[in-house]
Amino acid sequence: IPPHLRNREASKQGFDSGGWSSRRDKDAYSSFGARSDRDSKSSFFDRGTGSRGGRYEERGRGGDYDRSGFGRFDRGGGNSRWCDKSDEDDWSKPLPPSERLEQELFSGSNTGINFEKYDDIPVEATGSNCPPHIESFSDVDMGEIIMGNIELTRYTRPTPVQKHAIPIIKEKRDLMACAQTGSGKTAAFLLPILSQIYADGPGDALRAMKENGRYGRRKQYPISLVLAPTRELAVQIYEEARKFAYRSRVRPCVVYGGADIGQQIRDLERGCHLLVATPGRLVDMMERGKIGLDFCKYLVLDEADRMLDMGFEPQIRRIVEQDTMPPKGVRHTMMFSATFPKEIQMLARDFLDEYIFLAVGRVGSTSENITQKVVWVEEPDKRSFLLDLLNATGKDSLTLVFVETKKGADALEDFLYHEGYACTSIHGDRSQRDREEALHQFRSGKSPILVATAVAARGLDISNVKHVINFDLPSDIEEYVHRIGRTGRVGNLGLATSFFNERNINITKDLLDLLVEAKQEVPSWLENMAYEQHHKGGGSRGRSKRCKSLELIKRHFLLPFIGGGYGGFYNSDGYGGNYNSQGVDWWGN
Ligand code: AMP
Repeated sequence: IPPHLRNREASKQGFDSGGWSSRRDKDAYSSFGARSDRDSKSSFFDRGTGSRGGRYEERGRGGDYDRSGFGRFDRGGGNSRWCDKSDEDDWSKPLPPSERLEQELFSGSNTGINFEKYDDIPVEATGSNCPPHIESFSDVDMGEIIMGNIELTRYTRPTPVQKHAIPIIKEKRDLMACAQTGSGKTAAFLLPILSQIYADGPGDALRAMKENGRYGRRKQYPISLVLAPTRELAVQIYEEARKFAYRSRVRPCVVYGGADIGQQIRDLERGCHLLVATPGRLVDMMERGKIGLDFCKYLVLDEADRMLDMGFEPQIRRIVEQDTMPPKGVRHTMMFSATFPKEIQMLARDFLDEYIFLAVGRVGSTSENITQKVVWVEEPDKRSFLLDLLNATGKDSLTLVFVETKKGADALEDFLYHEGYACTSIHGDRSQRDREEALHQFRSGKSPILVATAVAARGLDISNVKHVINFDLPSDIEEYVHRIGRTGRVGNLGLATSFFNERNINITKDLLDLLVEAKQEVPSWLENMAYEQHHKGGGSRGRSKRCKSLELIKRHFLLPFIGGGYGGFYNSDGYGGNYNSQGVDWWGN
């Protein structure tokens, strides 16, 4: 019995000596514990009360759940597998637990994280008839499978984006959420989507797969699709989906470019109900006839702004508008984006139906839980300074070192390696396999120092980073904020140290403003430099652009923490307050 399940009365019932329980109903349910408080809400116990018929009705399609389907769990291995028989399987009922899988999925879950800061993050929801937010996971009925898996992940309370997004999605409202990686947004959409799939069953998708199988084709019809910009983010979402799909009949899959397509196709052919994909690879799969989106009821666009930045708009429109995906209003669509420029507003207008707009303050970034230090270090001294910092950092703490160039990343990794430090690096020239391996080495603590270029590190959830070191400072403040946001995540305390010298003069004023706003210690030389620059008129080059972006950062990342709040940033206009009369968008651009 894994450690986190020991001493739990109920868990004894769920396991037999072979790791699998032969009792699938009540006992399996009991193994999630705390049953009595949920009896009144649980869809499992409602089942006998005649509510079943309606449960399988799909929006606008009538109740045509295929009860002669072939959903049956294969005890042999994967997360949820398909075999050919079984008429009676009910997707809302948990399958027997697997000790091995539980260890694999949940042993790395977070523990001991301080969530106090979470409740201070401001969230604003706009849109008609917005459902009220929840305070605890048990405030909303997500069924026994989800509740059990939340317990296993040890998520004790919802994060702000979860408090708001879960009831909105549960009520089948379309959603546009401005929230960053690190805010808990993945679970915010996965929990309600999966809970609805469990409650509704597979519907037409199952019949389509069955029909297709008869003709020897193995096309998959996912019920839910999550689009993400990078393979790293796609894999992260997939990993989270596997946790919440544990003991269910839903089989999540992930496909992304730069990896062997044959292997991904074989994996899809084992069944795919929730697909996480990068846009380019998904188009490829659709054109090969491996994926059909005809029955995709839930569509999520994650980090939508990055997908557009990376030039994926044609592929996204191809997937959503020019194939067989149900139209907006029939499917249920959710978009997540860190920023909300015009292009995203257009996409939201085209893809979403009567949506709710959610703005979430950034979790942990540039707030009091990150200590920011700026030190003057000449170029030739940087390496020895870095060694001092690394020696002062605990051996088990993860340190992320940012450098400007790919060459610089290679050189620094080499240097650290020869100095005897367990380190790895990640940058754009590395192969997919190398990047995944480096990330794994880092996350697992085998190589607790990761040297990275900013581009390679974007969007990655490297949540336990204790120390971010700007070996080379970026030239703009926005990038600085993104980088230091790698630490102090999910309520943890973090440290960010930046090496500053003449090369970084152009960021002086913005950096100073930022440190002051975040109530950080400001070195006197930085103040002097900013003063001199101001009086000499130096540093004004490109200033207006930076000013704008600094305003943006202050509004969204800083003000919430220093009492500024969000008031006054919204202007309702039918898109959830995205435009105002001066033509300035919601983010001040
Ligand atoms: P995300 O923003 O989805 O990338 O999530 C950031 C991190 O927070 C991930 O490592 C999640 O596993 C973790 N997380 C998400 N929701 C919760 C929660 N309610 N309690 C604790 N950790 C969470």
